[in-house]
Amino acid sequence: MKFNTKTIHGGQHNIDPAYNSVMPPIYQTTTYGQSSPGEHKGFEYSRSGNPTRAALERSIASIENGDYGLAFSSGLAAIDAVLKLLKPGDEVISTSDLYGGSYRIFTRIYEDFGIKFHFVGMENVANIEKFINENTKLVWVETPTNPMMNIIDIKAAAAITQKHNLLLAVDNTFATPYLQTPLDLGADIIMHSATKYLGGHSDVVMGSLVVNDKSLAQKLYFIQNASGAVPGPQDCFLVLRGIKTLHLRVQRHCENGRAVAHFLKSNSNVDKVYWPGFEDHPNHQIAKKQMSDYGGMVSFTTKEGTLESAINVVSRVKIFTLAESLGGVESLAGHPASMTHASIPKKDREKTGVVDSLIRLSVGIEDIDDLIADLAQALE
Ligand code: PLP
Repeated sequence: MKFNTKTIHGGQHNIDPAYNSVMPPIYQTTTYGQSSPGEHKGFEYSRSGNPTRAALERSIASIENGDYGLAFSSGLAAIDAVLKLLKPGDEVISTSDLYGGSYRIFTRIYEDFGIKFHFVGMENVANIEKFINENTKLVWVETPTNPMMNIIDIKAAAAITQKHNLLLAVDNTFATPYLQTPLDLGADIIMHSATKYLGGHSDVVMGSLVVNDKSLAQKLYFIQNASGAVPGPQDCFLVLRGIKTLHLRVQRHCENGRAVAHFLKSNSNVDKVYWPGFEDHPNHQIAKKQMSDYGGMVSFTTKEGTLESAINVVSRVKIFTLAESLGGVESLAGHPASMTHASIPKKDREKTGVVDSLIRLSVGIEDIDDLIADLAQALE
């Protein structure tokens, strides 16, 4: 099956033997009757498994070209499950410019459990190798990075992790499997904040993992069930519905993102524009190689370069909504320094480019003329 068919049919055959419904029923149940102890039809308790969740998990695995999918109650719960594969004394090498919440769970929760994190600029993947020692277990890659839109060469990172027998996890939230499929490039684990493009309508918080290796899937399934951060069936239904239009939506996000990036580049009140589709983007060649297009996320700094100027712009937009999050059909504008990345100390975030004048746009699928007119009036 090709991608545009998988979004609709991947893992969905025979989802309702009772009535052949086209969408899976929402199995709003906690438990399932057993004919004798341990004799059941595949589900016994909805933390351990639920048919609506299973339909979604198969769909997510299918679109990521993976064998096993797992859904969690948020993207951070999915990250949490990956970190629970580790033991005190283990070390993780992570992208230095990443979602603030990922940084927070790494440094404020798991460092206290004796896990050490190294934050490394991975635009040059050779930097990863400098931090590998006998305690290293996991390399965490986010690409494109949030919010600086750096691109990390997944295939080159996988060559390093395979050589040293480490796990490579890729946060594929920004790209979505429409644009890149990290398992095909050698990653071991794909993580999503399904809250974003997979759900696509800003109405569900959810996370997911996809892997190919059976024993890794079993370990993660054990953690999913033992820790219990699972999504409810109604939310699984909504994300499954979202995935059915993922290809159409992301295609339009990319078209609009491209137009917005070029508009911003030509605007005299804008300083830098971060979008991997520009030929002068430092990692453009890698983006071109590993992604099929460049996505709908665009970041930029104001010409004035002050906190006030950025706050002014994000407060003046009318069609863009000033809000956290991304990846929904509607356009959002965010101020990373005070919103998504406020949990990263100022000196650390500024090192990676998250300065006070940086604005991050999640370009939606509205009419592009309206989006550009809105940005033009806000920047004036
Ligand atoms: N990863 C990235 C790249 C994100 O942008 C986010 C949320 O913004 C997360 C992970 C966390 O996901 P969630 O908010 O669903 O817990």
